[in-house]
Amino acid sequence: MRTLKDLPELSGTRVIVRCDLNVPLDGKTITDDGRVRASVPTLMYLIERGAKVIVISHLGRPEGAPDPQYSLEPVAKRLGELLGKPVGFVEETVGAKASRAVSELGSGEVLVLENLRFNPGETAKDDAGREEFAKDLSELGDVFVSDGFGVVHRKQASVYDLPKLLPSAAGLLIEAELKVLERLTDSPEKPYVVVLGGSKVSDKLGVIDHLLPRVNKILVGGGMVFTFLTALGNKVGSSLLEKDQIETCLGYLAKAKELGVEIVLPTDIVVASKFGADAEVQITSASTMEETPFGDKGLGLDIGPDSAKLFADNIRSAKTVFWNGPMGVFEMDKFANGTREVAKALTEVHGLSVVGGGDSAAAVRQLGFEDNQFGHISTGGGASLEYLEGKTMPGLEVLK
Ligand code: ADP
Ligand code: MG
Repeated sequence: MRTLKDLPELSGTRVIVRCDLNVPLDGKTITDDGRVRASVPTLMYLIERGAKVIVISHLGRPEGAPDPQYSLEPVAKRLGELLGKPVGFVEETVGAKASRAVSELGSGEVLVLENLRFNPGETAKDDAGREEFAKDLSELGDVFVSDGFGVVHRKQASVYDLPKLLPSAAGLLIEAELKVLERLTDSPEKPYVVVLGGSKVSDKLGVIDHLLPRVNKILVGGGMVFTFLTALGNKVGSSLLEKDQIETCLGYLAKAKELGVEIVLPTDIVVASKFGADAEVQITSASTMEETPFGDKGLGLDIGPDSAKLFADNIRSAKTVFWNGPMGVFEMDKFANGTREVAKALTEVHGLSVVGGGDSAAAVRQLGFEDNQFGHISTGGGASLEYLEGKTMPGLEVLK
């Protein structure tokens, strides 16, 4: 893969950088600026070498047309604070205004263009639609740097088509993310423990499949665990359940046994009377979930305290840990204990600990942990999962 070192002379050169500045916003306030911070090293590298830096990114899911709630303007402001220098912003991605702003850019200066997804071409299904938009983008620069790790698994104009039109290379964030993910796939130190949670089993099937032959243990929590518990004959009340995945879960349990991999499931569950912060809760054994006052209306919204301890012990004794998916509905404090205990255990691993997934990364920060307490927090949830599933990623293939 081509990297920054492979690029021609940068001084005075217009460099388009595809970042992933897709941060969570509350109105105009950024609630987690992790992705903006992760973009800084590449931008500094280019600034220091006198490039004219043009930053492009998406934010949220606008539907191919301008939508003020998804404007990148507040993000450009935050980027300026982090870079310690003024950062320009133009309320257009391509067009006359964008071209003028780019032509006025000096060496070592930075300009952020408006949200890529305000243009239908960015995510167009037809190749021609994407290629046309990529061509318009390419006219704004001389060189392209791909650094939006969170989107490299997407076949989109700024990720897949644009790099074909300009001399292009991967940025420092993509290099750093891949270095860690390679350590997880090429001869990871054992014991290797994977912790999976989150809402849906169907999202994580690919990783389970690919990782089973490579790991020592898989710990399962979160909403997906109830499909596993059901597969084993337990009643799970009104908890999340994907009936069509029961057979698949049984298949994984059998395959794990065959391979000598331990699948660790919670022994106790925090059952709630309803989905809400004011719910009544009761802790029960995973096999007696319907024997609470809530009966079959009860919802499992977190792993219980014994399970949290069991998971934490398993994590602490590992040399390599990958974690994706919260153990419970951590957004409500009542159901955050499992996620907190797992996060804490990851900070105590003597080896490599990696957190992947948008909600998982948000959870550890919301629960008060610092990024540097973990070996690595990936900026790309879907991208890191697809990498671990062994899939080829369009945005990386074009940089080879
Ligand atoms: P990530 O973004 O890290 O990959 P997911 O998107 O898979 O994680 O899952 C995150 C969501 O899973 C969170 O919003 C959390 O509230 C939800 N979740 C976790 N456990 C449960 C549960 N027991 N029931 C319902 N939702 C759950
Ligand atoms: Mg998510």
